[in-house]
Amino acid sequence: MDYVGSIFRPPSEANSLILQIAVGCSHNKCTFCHSFKDKKFYIKDMKTIYADIEEAKQYRGSFDKVFLADGDSLILPTEVLLDIIGRIRKNLPEVKRIGTYANTKAILKKTPEELIQLREAGLGIIYQGIETGNKEVLRRIKKGAFPHKQLETAEKIKAAGMLLSQTVLLGIGGVELSKEHAIDTGKHLSDMSPDFASALTVMIVPGTELHKQMLEGKFELPDKFGLLTELKLMLENMNVKRNCFFTSNHASNYLPIRAQLPEERDKVVAMINEVITTGDERILRPEHMRAL
Ligand code: SF4
Repeated sequence: MDYVGSIFRPPSEANSLILQIAVGCSHNKCTFCHSFKDKKFYIKDMKTIYADIEEAKQYRGSFDKVFLADGDSLILPTEVLLDIIGRIRKNLPEVKRIGTYANTKAILKKTPEELIQLREAGLGIIYQGIETGNKEVLRRIKKGAFPHKQLETAEKIKAAGMLLSQTVLLGIGGVELSKEHAIDTGKHLSDMSPDFASALTVMIVPGTELHKQMLEGKFELPDKFGLLTELKLMLENMNVKRNCFFTSNHASNYLPIRAQLPEERDKVVAMINEVITTGDERILRPEHMRAL
């Protein structure tokens, strides 16, 4: 398989075949993101992609899902995506679901009809990093998207019949906007009602703009109990209208949670509250085991 640079995929795609159809992220401006800093965005040539699909036949039986990398493959022209997805379905008929990352711009560029075409072809799940529901935080982190536009994308994806998985970032508002970030993100997730929502914790990576801001004293990350308070506030403000599977089990987090919302929300909020009020760190992930 032809892989250029480091490959990133959602945790739930751990057993999927990763097919890299583009390199990098077409946005590549988020202040906290280090993932594609060393890559200039481009679409891989079709010969390479076809060869990878051909090669993947050797591994049949070891996967039943395909993840299209890199950072926002939905930005590719619809006819190119349909061609790639069609080839996957033809050559790897056992594949049950195809997924990709998509940023707000990429989703907005697609018409509702194009999204339906892609879903009918086999694109079953979209992973979208929304990071926060707070407008000012989105501006500061240069996400290139505002809450009302993110809401529009969620409506488009759901209307097309695809699954929607969104991630948010604990700590991304810093100490200064911690409370606003948590409350607005909980409300935003309520409005968007994704099928899956995951909270990760921002890890400040040298070389990023956020790291520079931290060194200059312009950004301060909340401490672990501040981050837990954000998680609690976020969940308290999440009143989803349909089932949403919420997780915070990514290695960057201190407290791993898996909860079916709305049923289990109050139970997990009470559990987080217990950890905060007692200061009992025994169930928290040790610092040395946290990772990106
Ligand atoms: S859109 Fe995603 S991949 Fe691209 S820079 Fe932002 S966080 Fe990184």
